[in-house]
Amino acid sequence: MKKIGILGSTGSIGKNTLKIIESNPDKFELIYITAKTQVELLIEQAKKFKPKYVVIADEDKYPLLKSKLKQLNIKVMSSYNSIIEIAGLKEVDIAVNAIVGSKGMQPSVSACKNGIDIALSNKESLVMAGDYLYSLADKSETKIFPVDSEHSAVWQCLQGEKSENIRKIILTGSGGPFLNRNIDTFKNISVKDALDHPNWLMGKKITIDSATMMNKGLEIIEAHYLFKMPQSKIEVVIHPQSIIHSMVEFNDNSVKAQLGLPDMKLPIQYALSYPERYVANWESLDLVKLKELTFFSPDTEKFPSLKLALDALKSGETYPVVLNVANEQAVYLFIENKIKFTDIPKIVEKMLNRHKPIKNAGIDTILDVENEVSNYVNSMI
Ligand code: MG
Repeated sequence: MKKIGILGSTGSIGKNTLKIIESNPDKFELIYITAKTQVELLIEQAKKFKPKYVVIADEDKYPLLKSKLKQLNIKVMSSYNSIIEIAGLKEVDIAVNAIVGSKGMQPSVSACKNGIDIALSNKESLVMAGDYLYSLADKSETKIFPVDSEHSAVWQCLQGEKSENIRKIILTGSGGPFLNRNIDTFKNISVKDALDHPNWLMGKKITIDSATMMNKGLEIIEAHYLFKMPQSKIEVVIHPQSIIHSMVEFNDNSVKAQLGLPDMKLPIQYALSYPERYVANWESLDLVKLKELTFFSPDTEKFPSLKLALDALKSGETYPVVLNVANEQAVYLFIENKIKFTDIPKIVEKMLNRHKPIKNAGIDTILDVENEVSNYVNSMI
């Protein structure tokens, strides 16, 4: 039995992880679940799965959580610090980090310090603290398994391969809902338009990131750290059907691809079952029904976020922290209707331009940069 903890069990990845645990009761034991504010759903999940620990970040929700679970033998905790603490709980084999945004970084740090393997959905952890996290992970022999569908695909393609034979990683992206929209109308894009993703059903933050294509930019940085690949060996190809989840080209011109229907349960389950493969209880791929798979180059004029992410990775140091935090704050301002869709990359670019980079950043420096950028972006509005 693998002992699993879920950081962020009430979001889309968290709920899918619970479905996988439910379908494989002989393989997984759930040790803890955590949530930010969704207390009602957390209570429901706790009653159904009976984990040993339940944590809610929002301390105002603690009394309700505690009273609803008092008949059960569950330890109930509250605060963001308790989430960071439980991420390092040694009795867990794999912590699924499904927290949204930069708040996921410190729990990843905590898991890495304590040698708890991570099934990582929170790409922001690597974007903000890739070097630092791997310095901890290497010391504690912690493994970081990708949950992001593209990175899971690359990981699957790399099984049995030597890294010196890799020519490049080809990350695919659907192009999001505005792939074919005229650039002149981008300033009129509403929150509702941007939340309407053609293929994937996901949380709000990542759906907006997919619409701006910043998600693909963050994924380039994520791939750089996960697979120890220089930026020059990572390419992006637009593939609107989201069937090929990514590819790897080798030095003999062979290209391996991983295919499947767009369903996050597969990459989540693979991260938990690795090196085994467990039987799926979801729909399989019918290529004849699909008929065609198409590919295009990304348009960085329409989607400047992609180029901003590449530039941040090239510049290195604390630039990716700024990229991530400025983007996250801008996305929330857009969701609150305080800025336009086209302002998101403008804010990110402005913050990157005014940043004074810091070398070899540890956690304190990263958190300082996060605070500074977050405050500055919000003070602009
Ligand atoms: Mg992805």
